[in-house]
Amino acid sequence: SRHGVPHAGNFMSTEAVLITGAVDVMAVDVQCIMPALAPLADCYGTKFFTTNPRAKMEGAQHIEFHEHKPRQCTDKIVKEAIGRFKSRKVPIVIPQNKSLGIHGFSHEYINYMLGGTFRASYVPLNDNIINGRIRGVAGVVGCTNPRVRQDYVHVELVKELIKNDILVVQTGCSQIALAKAGLMKPDASVLAGDGLQEVCETVGMPPVLGLGSCVDNSRILIACAEMVKTGGLGDSIADLPVAGVAPEWYSEKAIAIGQYVVASGIYTVFGVTFPTIAETKFHKLLFDGLEQQGFGKWGFAKEPDEMAAMIIDHIDKKREALGIMGERERVLMDMADRQALEVEAGEID
Ligand code: SF4
Repeated sequence: SRHGVPHAGNFMSTEAVLITGAVDVMAVDVQCIMPALAPLADCYGTKFFTTNPRAKMEGAQHIEFHEHKPRQCTDKIVKEAIGRFKSRKVPIVIPQNKSLGIHGFSHEYINYMLGGTFRASYVPLNDNIINGRIRGVAGVVGCTNPRVRQDYVHVELVKELIKNDILVVQTGCSQIALAKAGLMKPDASVLAGDGLQEVCETVGMPPVLGLGSCVDNSRILIACAEMVKTGGLGDSIADLPVAGVAPEWYSEKAIAIGQYVVASGIYTVFGVTFPTIAETKFHKLLFDGLEQQGFGKWGFAKEPDEMAAMIIDHIDKKREALGIMGERERVLMDMADRQALEVEAGEID
């Protein structure tokens, strides 16, 4: 929720919320707008506005949003909503089912959650990846797609990943799908593998962490950069046992986001469809060549179990390369051990 106002849903819910009759006004800007919204809003007496000159729609009234004078637009829309509220004509039917999700795990909060005020750091995360309790981290992000059964791919994929001790981080509409399935609460850790469950219970966190909207994927990259900086997991993001996946992507911008994630060094799997032709030079570059150049690479699969298997294989490949495959006992070092390590490091320099 924002300012205590809960989410009504995600992209796939935008038509359904109008059918409650309780939406006095709907305003849209440039993306993720179902084409039937304007005539549907008309059926239920909801006022429907576009706000961006690049995305006017037939059947909508236009109130332009200017970044430097935002209130001019928003005040008008609020007044229109108040007017419609006073003259609602359709019966109001609001479903009473509610789901709880704990969201808002920013990079800063993850630091605090793992180490408190005095010892805020990613060390516990890296330690638990190195000792094998957490196998790796997967970013499961983005759109929900009307071409597949609602929420199915997101939910089944994430269940499979956490069962295999892979911590999941999230952005975008995917979070609502998983909150509806009860996966974004701390008690969802009962569905995780033994290692991940132990970490979640110790920290008091869910096995699935929501980091923000679909334009907040850079937060996941910041977390990856922090994991590299913290140490023990290689020299670049490309060395980390991590992967990204947008299992039901549909928006064009998902491709741009996916490519910057790949360019940052992360294996990125997309579902539903992929807009290149297999066996072409370009396709081979995306799915193989980029990795050989030290970047990440693209992957494609339709079924959640297939995606999970690809991600687990990739994470295991990275663990193998880091020499942390299999569980390792945590070694508690005393001062003499540390001094010996420092001497060794000095000799290497
Ligand atoms: S996650 Fe996808 S569907 Fe949802 S708002 Fe972002 S681009 Fe649109």
